[in-house]
Amino acid sequence: MVVVGAGFAGASLIRHLPPLLRKPGETLLIDRRQEYAFVPLIHEVAVGRVHPESVRSPIASLCPGACEFLQTEVSGIDLDERVLETPEGPVGYEYLVLNPGSVAAEPGPKLHDYFQHFWSLGDALRLRSALSAAWQRATSPGPPPPPGALTVAIVGGGATGVELAAEVAALFDYLGKRSHRRPSEEPRVVLIEATHRLMEWLDPYFDDAARRALSDLGVEVRLNSPVGQASAEGVRAGEEWLKAATRVWTAGVEASPLVRELPGVHDAGGRSYVDQYLTLPEYPEVYVLGDAGLYTDPRIGPLPPTASVAVQQGPWAARDLRRRLRGAESKRGRPPFRFFDRGYVVSLGPESAVADAVGLRVRGAAAQALYRSVLLYYMKSRRDRILTGADWAMERTLGRVGFGGDQQKEG
Ligand SMILES: Cc1cc2nc3c(=O)[nH]c(=O)nc-3n(C[C@H](O)[C@H](O)[C@H](O)COP(=O)(O)OP(=O)(O)OC[C@H]3O[C@@H](n4cnc5c(N)ncnc54)[C@H](O)[C@@H]3O)c2cc1C
Repeated sequence: MVVVGAGFAGASLIRHLPPLLRKPGETLLIDRRQEYAFVPLIHEVAVGRVHPESVRSPIASLCPGACEFLQTEVSGIDLDERVLETPEGPVGYEYLVLNPGSVAAEPGPKLHDYFQHFWSLGDALRLRSALSAAWQRATSPGPPPPPGALTVAIVGGGATGVELAAEVAALFDYLGKRSHRRPSEEPRVVLIEATHRLMEWLDPYFDDAARRALSDLGVEVRLNSPVGQASAEGVRAGEEWLKAATRVWTAGVEASPLVRELPGVHDAGGRSYVDQYLTLPEYPEVYVLGDAGLYTDPRIGPLPPTASVAVQQGPWAARDLRRRLRGAESKRGRPPFRFFDRGYVVSLGPESAVADAVGLRVRGAAAQALYRSVLLYYMKSRRDRILTGADWAMERTLGRVGFGGDQQKEG
């Protein structure tokens, strides 16, 4: 068996591999990276609340006793010949589990050069440097920087945009209290959304809670404001031209190009439709899990591209493989995948969050505590849990790990 992608779906599959697939030479794990970054926390890395090392883990550590690891990029798949193309040469398979995840949707050719993405740990570190440099310029003696130097425009009011906007506003508040000099202009965080509400795919309860919390943090929310124009100085949001030195694009995701190029039916974002066994209808030996596959649960509808879906699909596919290897191909011996919806939680800055979890709606500090425990639960290793927990605990006593007021600290 070959598993492509060691993210949420791939790692949870490897941890639950049946004994038959744990034998030497049976399972190969491929990922283009050496380390996996826990992306649900990168907005906290971008504002210096969590250290980058706390959210990185080596992929090879998943393998001892379970699989072999090959670090390479899969560039193509021949489903009929059952072969993957890689720079290391062709790799054949009997069963294939594809979990290459998503990529950030491009803002379009006219906007592309004027926005930075917010999708990976690298993006978070670039934003952290940009925010730190902007604050230093605005609080240094000498001629003030041009207007908009401390304005951050975030385009896309999904969960990522909301979480980031809340964190950046809280960062400016934190820096303002610790800085010896007042900045040359008032910091602004503007969250720009094309539709009439935030986080449209979630219940309106999330929109309501987020708008209140963002308003308390001083974030300006612009709804019904599609962005069609931008420059190195700013961005046009609806009718308004906004001067903003820092511009971040958080609007939308697409399936990995590897999956978009597969034969079969895809949704608008390029995800491959999979059947009740999470396999391609024409190729039952190929599972497509996590963000890359689109599964329609009969009770819930199409499942969203979230970590909570991916971490249920990985172990389920491992169980399904065990059944198939024992010869259970019939419907009776092979129950279909069903998603257990535990709800969703969105962070709203260091002190607040909003959650709708197993029928319980909660917002504020209690939801933030729930958010932290859910994220620690999803983390792959005990080491990452301890380091992240320590970053949060130290923030209360020693300050942030990545921003120290007028001076940025790395350690
Ligand atoms: C900023 C941000 C915040 C998020 N917050 C949350 C949250 O709070 N809660 C939540 O439920 N979800 C959240 N998500 C979504 C969640 O991260 C994804 O749903 C989840 O990562 C999907 O898991 P996956 O296994 O499908 O893919 P991933 O976890 O993305 O893993 C894909 C793996 O495949 C590898 N890969 C890709 N292409 C190739 C190739 N061609 N060859 C070899 N390897 C390849 C990649 O290197 C990667 O390791 C967030 C996403 C982002 C970007």
